[in-house]
Order: sequence, then structure tokens, then C-alpha cells
Amino acid sequence: MPIQPIDTVALARIVEELRSRGVKVELKPPVLRPRDSYDGRRHQFRAERLLEHVALAAERPVLGLTDGDCYAAKLNFVFGMAEVGGGTAVVSLFRLRAGATAGTFMSRALKEISHELGHAVGLGHCQNPRCVMHSSNSLAEADTKDEYLCAACLRRLRK
Ligand SMILES: [Zn+2]
Ligand SMILES: [Zn+2]
Repeated sequence: MPIQPIDTVALARIVEELRSRGVKVELKPPVLRPRDSYDGRRHQFRAERLLEHVALAAERPVLGLTDGDCYAAKLNFVFGMAEVGGGTAVVSLFRLRAGATAGTFMSRALKEISHELGHAVGLGHCQNPRCVMHSSNSLAEADTKDEYLCAACLRRLRK
């Protein structure tokens, strides 16, 4: 579910990339950000509010994608947020562009989308630094991990 503001070219590329990897994606029409999701003082979006908005969709799992910079509670920023096991997730592309080539940006986007969707379907964080479910609080950490689940997380998912 694209949430404005969204770079439609990047969105189309990400959807195409996911589909080429066998992920079944249904692209929803772009939605306006909820009015009260924007914090004008911080020039950032409340990730929690966007997540609530995404939860209005009938489908599960559902992931909202935005170019708006997001924050949550005491964190300066978040790459994304999900309701663990609740089937809902949101990812911001905003910070993933820093110093990135087109390839790096795509890889980061796929990792964050996979990570938040992993939470949405019930997976927690993983200690394995290469696993896509490893918690990344910086781009350096995000760049270290793979785009995929480790064997242990894959087993958990299948259970
Ligand atoms: Zn996480
Ligand atoms: Zn793992």
C-alpha cells in the first residue's frame, strides 16, 4: 500500500523486483497520509500512526511503503515498524537512499520490507547478523545482513 509521499518510480522497481523473486504482490492504489501522522516540528511521520492506517486494509499481510521519514517513541528515526503477528507493517524508503547506488538502495529496500513483513507474520529478531530478521538501527548494520531469512528463522516461519 503506497502512502504519500511516495516515489512512484522506485515503487514500481521494488514491486517488479519482488515479483521477479516469486513474491506475490498486489499493488494497492496510493493513499494519502493520515493528516495527524505528520509531526511538523520534527518534519517526520509517526510510524505508529501510518501503521494504524495500513491496518484499515482488509488484506493480510499488508505493508505500507512511504518516502516520508518516520520516527517512533524515543527513536530519532525508524526504517519501519510492524505489528508482530498482526499482519501489518510499514517501511520508509527515506533513509535508505543515503550514499546508495541504485543497487544498494534496492537491496536495502528489499531487506527492510522482508524484515517488517517477517515481524508481521510473527517472527521476532534474530541474533544472526547476516539474517534479514537481525535488528538494524543503522545503514551499516542493514548493509551487513543478507536479503533472506537464516535457516533457523525459515524453520520458525514454516512452523
Ligand atoms: Zn525488527
Ligand atoms: Zn534468523
